[in-house]
Amino acid sequence: MRLFTVGPVEMFERTLEVRNKQIPYFRCQEFSDVMLEIEERLKILLKTDIDSKCAIITGSGSAAMEAVVSNSLDESDHVLVIDGGSFGARFVQLCEIYKIPHDVVKLKYGEILSEEHLKAYEANEYTAMLVNVHETSTGQLYDLKMLSEFCEKKKMKLIVDAISSFLSDEYKMDEMKIDCTIISSHKALALAPGLSMVMMNASFYEEKVKNKPVKNLYLNLNEHVKNMERGQTPNTPAVGICYEMLDMLRHIQEKGIQNIIRETSARATKFRSKIKEIGLEIPNYPLSNTLTPVYFKDGNAFEIYEYLKNNYDIYVTPSGGALKDKLLRVGHIGHMKDEYYDDLIMKMREVL
Ligand SMILES: *Cc1c(COP(=O)(O)O)cnc(C)c1O
Repeated sequence: MRLFTVGPVEMFERTLEVRNKQIPYFRCQEFSDVMLEIEERLKILLKTDIDSKCAIITGSGSAAMEAVVSNSLDESDHVLVIDGGSFGARFVQLCEIYKIPHDVVKLKYGEILSEEHLKAYEANEYTAMLVNVHETSTGQLYDLKMLSEFCEKKKMKLIVDAISSFLSDEYKMDEMKIDCTIISSHKALALAPGLSMVMMNASFYEEKVKNKPVKNLYLNLNEHVKNMERGQTPNTPAVGICYEMLDMLRHIQEKGIQNIIRETSARATKFRSKIKEIGLEIPNYPLSNTLTPVYFKDGNAFEIYEYLKNNYDIYVTPSGGALKDKLLRVGHIGHMKDEYYDDLIMKMREVL
């Protein structure tokens, strides 16, 4: 099996070794030390202050999205949501479920998020913005600097789902004035699915989370933050994935996050030029290094996905909804090698 998906992704040998061990007990100092080290390393990698608050939630990335929307926003907020695909739509859905007043910047497929879109909302009052910096369903990477400047000018909290951008693209939480960041275990961290992390700067936590009435039990961010002070979680966490994460974060810091971003970028650039060589199209909106969207104007995208899967056990990422027959997404995260892409190009050429 070969995964060119964006989560789960090809895992590293070191992670498979960690996974192959007995899961230890967790209400003890040894495990608290693991969690505190994870917290510290995440702050360094996200480039945020040591005073930021971290919640480690057992649940996929959507659980962290729900925790943030439900714990930090309420009826008194007015939120601007960027919806450029299925993950943006998820934030909209959460606002609807939790009755958070909101406006939506809705992008059509292929439309590039620009200053003009924001200008249309400039006259309104907002308390926060919700955005998936890399909208994984299309591959568009939004201009964080532009969004951050808009939020700063309008004194809005900036809440960023960086789940599919973290470790692939430049991300400096404090410098870019991001108040809250959401990431998860099974994208570029290349771990098992099941953990998601919320990082909040101290003022976001104080103003938006700390004194809010409780809306839910399992996703209660206050309980998570309070427990994390001693390296614990309110309920049983995915203990095994915590160990995978500690090992991976140590490795990433040893290797250097810049080197990882550079390698991923090099893989993406090389693949993109080859894709053009075989006559396929890549959309012209800004892209993350995480994945390459490949556009099939003849409408045979899903057919090709099935052909690769059924004949070669190769998984590229298919698309949903209206893009099903038009767009395949080829991932560049996880344990990938140049020769995998040479092989994929050869097989795509064969089927075309
Ligand atoms: C993967 C992903 C999520 C989380 O989806 P889950 O199915 O809950 O893992 C959220 N946002 C983005 C941008 C993603 O790529």
